Amino acid sequence: MRKTIIVGNWKMFKTNTEALAFINEVDGKVKTNENTLAGLAVPFTALSDVKKASKNLIIAAENCHFKENGAYTGEISIPMLQDLKVTHVVIGHSERREMFNETNETVNLKAKALLAANMTPILCCGETLETYEAGKTNEWVKEQITAGFAGISADDAKKVVIAYEPIWAIGTGKVATPEIAQEVCKTVREVIKGLYNDSVANEILIQYGGSVKPENIKDILAQADIDGALVGGASLEPKSYLDLINA
Ligand code: 13P
Repeated sequence: MRKTIIVGNWKMFKTNTEALAFINEVDGKVKTNENTLAGLAVPFTALSDVKKASKNLIIAAENCHFKENGAYTGEISIPMLQDLKVTHVVIGHSERREMFNETNETVNLKAKALLAANMTPILCCGETLETYEAGKTNEWVKEQITAGFAGISADDAKKVVIAYEPIWAIGTGKVATPEIAQEVCKTVREVIKGLYNDSVANEILIQYGGSVKPENIKDILAQADIDGALVGGASLEPKSYLDLINA
């Protein structure tokens, strides 16, 4: 049986002080076990303190550079994250693809660098409203996944968490119905099967993201090919975050 993994993505919200107050409030109250993992992707400035303060949560970065070091002003390397004992990194989020020139190629470079460092990429994919309305979601996601996993071995591929996030459902209040989310997550699993084999496809964790809330998370997680959620807005308040995790 696959685990469930629910991760909040704070995006550009919360100072370090606010982040610490949040962690101190929720960390002791999350009900996780070996089959249910809970985490938070937090801004770089909060990573160090939040990681030290949390006993029960996976703490993730929201991005990284694929190079070990170099003249890349403003970037954060994987060794810098490892030094903080961060284990997971969100890569290829649609906001980074749309506003910060993230491409399938850089997502792939980041995925390979993270896996080589024994870290877990949370690799995002998802289509625009235009692509969705044109009925091209499956093709689009297939291309993103195929490019994102290029050159990654089957053993490593299993360690990646995929997050399917339709752009039209992010922060809009428009949640893809559980059926739509399931359909695309099933397609993603089939793409992985085509790239690798049954065992990788059966093991890999696939999250859905896009207007997930305490009220709809149960229906989403009930879908056969959905193993978790990546949650923006509803992860920002302690009560709402706990309701998501403990639903
Ligand atoms: P919302 O949950 O606010 O729609 O954001 C989804 C998201 O982008 C998570 O990465």
